[in-house]
Amino acid sequence: MDLTYTAEEEDFRARLRAWLQRVLPKLPPRPAPDDWPGRRAYDLGWQRMLYDAGYAGLHWPVDAGGQGATPTQHLIYLEETERAGAPYVGANFVGLLHAGPTIAAVGTADQRARWLPPVLRGDEVWCQGFSEPDAGSDLASLRTRAVRDGDAYVVSGTKIWTSHAEVADWCELLVRTDPDAPKHRGISWLAMPMDAPGVTVRPLRTLAGSTEFAEMFLDEVRVPVANRVGAEHDGWRVTMVTLSFERGTAFVGEVVACRRTLGQLAAEARKNGRWDDPVLRRRLGRLSAEFGALWRLTQWNVSEAQHQRTGGVPGTGGSVFKLRYSHARQELYDTAAAVLGPDSLDLAREWNLDRLSALSYTIAAGTSQIQRDIVAERILGLPKGR
Ligand SMILES: Cc1cc2nc3c(=O)[nH]c(=O)nc-3n(C[C@H](O)[C@H](O)[C@H](O)COP(=O)(O)OP(=O)(O)OC[C@H]3O[C@@H](n4cnc5c(N)ncnc54)[C@H](O)[C@@H]3O)c2cc1C
Repeated sequence: MDLTYTAEEEDFRARLRAWLQRVLPKLPPRPAPDDWPGRRAYDLGWQRMLYDAGYAGLHWPVDAGGQGATPTQHLIYLEETERAGAPYVGANFVGLLHAGPTIAAVGTADQRARWLPPVLRGDEVWCQGFSEPDAGSDLASLRTRAVRDGDAYVVSGTKIWTSHAEVADWCELLVRTDPDAPKHRGISWLAMPMDAPGVTVRPLRTLAGSTEFAEMFLDEVRVPVANRVGAEHDGWRVTMVTLSFERGTAFVGEVVACRRTLGQLAAEARKNGRWDDPVLRRRLGRLSAEFGALWRLTQWNVSEAQHQRTGGVPGTGGSVFKLRYSHARQELYDTAAAVLGPDSLDLAREWNLDRLSALSYTIAAGTSQIQRDIVAERILGLPKGR
C-alpha cells in the first residue's frame, strides 16, 4: 500500500470535505443517548444522506452494491468524516460493519440483492444474536435449536447482550441445526426477521444508564431456509468471517475519533492548569504515540481486508488490533478522568459516558483473554491452551 496521496485521491478528499461542510450544518440535533428510536431514525437518516451522495459502502465490492473504492480512499473517508465531526455508524454498526460484509463475502446473489441495498440505503437495521447465557467466549457451545420443518427452521432459545435488538429489523443469528455433531460442526448462520412471531426482546440497562443491548427470547420462530447464509451446519465457518470483520475492521473508524478526543483533552488540560503536571503530560504523550501506532495498524487492516488474497475478509491480525485498541481506549478515558478531575463524575458530559462504555470494549466482540489466545495460537504458533 502506497501511503502518499495521488492527485486523484486528493481530489476525492477535497470533494468529500466540501460535501461534509455543506451537509453537516443541516443535520437535526443528535437525539439523547437513551432515545433508541430517535437514534435509529438519526443514524438511518445520515446513512441515507451518504447513500444519496455516493458515499455509502465506499469500500464494499461493486457487486455487493458498494463503490469499490481503494483502501486509501476508505482511509481518507474515515479521516475526513471524523475531522468534520460527522456522525458515526451508530445503530447501523452490525449491518454496515459485519453482517453486511459477511453476506457480501459468503451470501448468494439473491441474498446480496435482498439484504445489502437496504443496509446501504439506510432502510434497515441489523443486530447480532450470537451470545447466549451459557455461550460467550465459548460461543460454539451455543444451544439455540433450529429444527427443519419444510421450507423453514423452527427456532427456540435465548440470546443475550444483543446490541440494538430493540430497533433492529434483522438479526444475524447463530443456531444449532445438528445437535449430534461435534459442537463446531452443527451450527448454521441465519438472517432472522425481528418482527417474526415468537421473538421477544427485553432491554438490559448498562451502568451508563443506556439500554443499548437486550435479552432475546425465541419461541418457535419460523425462519425460512432461504435465509441461511452458507451451508447447513457450516455456520461456524461463516461466524469466523463475521468475527474477522467485527474485530479486524469494525472499530477502525473509532481510532480517528480517539485521536481527536486526545487533542481535546490536551487542550482542556492546558485550560484548567493540569498541563503543569509532568506525569499527566507523559500519559498524554504516550497515548498519542499509542494511537499513532494504532492508526498505522488500521491502515494495514483496511488494506489487508480489501486485498484479493484474503477474498476481502480480514485475517486474524484483527485480534491484535482489537486487543490493543480496547485497552488503549480505556487508558484514554482514565486519562480523561485525570484531566477533568471532579468534573469527571458529571454524567451529563459526553466523555464521561464514553468512559463508562470504554469498560465494555475489552469484553464485547470477544474478551481480551480470548484475543490473546488467538494471537498466541494462530499468529505466534504457540501450543494450544487447555
Ligand atoms: C457492550 C457489549 C455489547 C455486546 N453486544 C453483543 C451483541 O450485539 N451480540 C452478541 O451476540 N453478543 C454481544 N456481546 C457479548 C460479548 O460477545 C460477550 O460478552 C463476550 O464474548 C464474553 O462472553 P461472556 O460475557 O459470556 O463471558 P464469559 O465467556 O463467561 O467470560 C467470563 C470471563 O472468563 C474469561 N474466559 C472465558 N473463557 C476463557 C478462556 N478459554 N481462557 C481465558 N479466559 C477465559 C473471559 O475472558 C472473561 O474474563 C456484547 C458484549 C458487550 C460488553
